[in-house]
Amino acid sequence: MSRLLLIGPPGAGKGTQATRLASAFGIPAISTGDIFRANVAQQTELGKQAKAYMDRGEYVPDSLTNALVRDRLSQPDTANGFLLDGYPRTADQVKELDEILQAAGTKLDTVIQLTADTDEVVRRLSNRAIEQGRSDDTEDVIRHRLHVYEEQTEPLISVYAARGILQLVDGLGEVQQVTDRILEVLSARGLEPIA
Ligand code: AMP
Repeated sequence: MSRLLLIGPPGAGKGTQATRLASAFGIPAISTGDIFRANVAQQTELGKQAKAYMDRGEYVPDSLTNALVRDRLSQPDTANGFLLDGYPRTADQVKELDEILQAAGTKLDTVIQLTADTDEVVRRLSNRAIEQGRSDDTEDVIRHRLHVYEEQTEPLISVYAARGILQLVDGLGEVQQVTDRILEVLSARGLEPIA
């Protein structure tokens, strides 16, 4: 049973690693960014509300984001664990997640902080803009997203460090190298992949 959280700046490789880890552990990867993007594509009410924030590189309001995660974590496929990617990102979201898990009588096993320096992150995001055409991957918006991350999300990491569940992993290098580093720190905490 693994309840994991991936935290790190945009472009650190969270999404890529989340997909790999989730399949290794047989748990769903829950990316709030992916869920928002799917809602934007389907033009749902949530998508319409989220889009303007996303296009500006701002965080979607906590009320919308928290409701989305609360609903997702109530679904049965999360009963044996999950990997959250890109949530929580604000102090209010940390509080919400604590409440959701406490009510379910569970808690996070490990928080993995993926590190990457700013130049590398900007380079990766600019490439992704070309490859995937994401509307929030233009240079100005990228810089703004990094700024928002540093201001609102980075300070939260100390909360998890204080709880003794934070593990730092270097996000630079080949995708497989980074996956191996993460698997190593999880293994040291007694969390082993299913296959
Ligand atoms: P991501 O793919 O995780 O970088 O998310 C893309 C965008 O979705 C972000 O820039 C935000 O606008 C929005 N978003 C994703 N997760 C959250 C969150 N936990 N809180 C607020 N906004 C979010």
